Amino acid sequence: MAYVYDDTNVFARILRGEIPNKTVLETEHTLAFHDIGPQAPIHVLVIPKGRYVTFDHFAAEASAEEIADFMRTAAAVCETLGIRPGEGGQGYRTIANAGTHGVQEVPHYHMHILGGRVLGSMLK
Ligand code: ADP
Repeated sequence: MAYVYDDTNVFARILRGEIPNKTVLETEHTLAFHDIGPQAPIHVLVIPKGRYVTFDHFAAEASAEEIADFMRTAAAVCETLGIRPGEGGQGYRTIANAGTHGVQEVPHYHMHILGGRVLGSMLK
């Protein structure tokens, strides 16, 4: 089944400059910005600039360059915000919700990066 991308979603509007954002990092292919409704002291969203709906869409159709840029930008956010574990940072969690069961609200692929406190242990 082909992926269908909806240009009216809020992150598409951010990428077009129609809505402001608090940018943490920006590269040719990727934008990282603070979540408007933070669930933790640090809550950043990392999005590809390309038109991808979910993680699986991004993994299937993005170029190797876009994928590498996305992953390295997400890692650079952790470094920039001082949450990378081991060198003074206390760690973080990454989440990507997809579809109805994943409770994805915005249909543009995004990685949540959460940190700044001990997070709930949903997966333990
Ligand atoms: P959920 O809201 O269930 O986490 P998503 O995984 O789709 O669903 O996450 C969408 C995220 O986008 C939410 O954390 C929400 O606070 C955030 N958000 C929505 N609009 C904006 C905006 N204009 N700027 C920054 N973050 C936003």
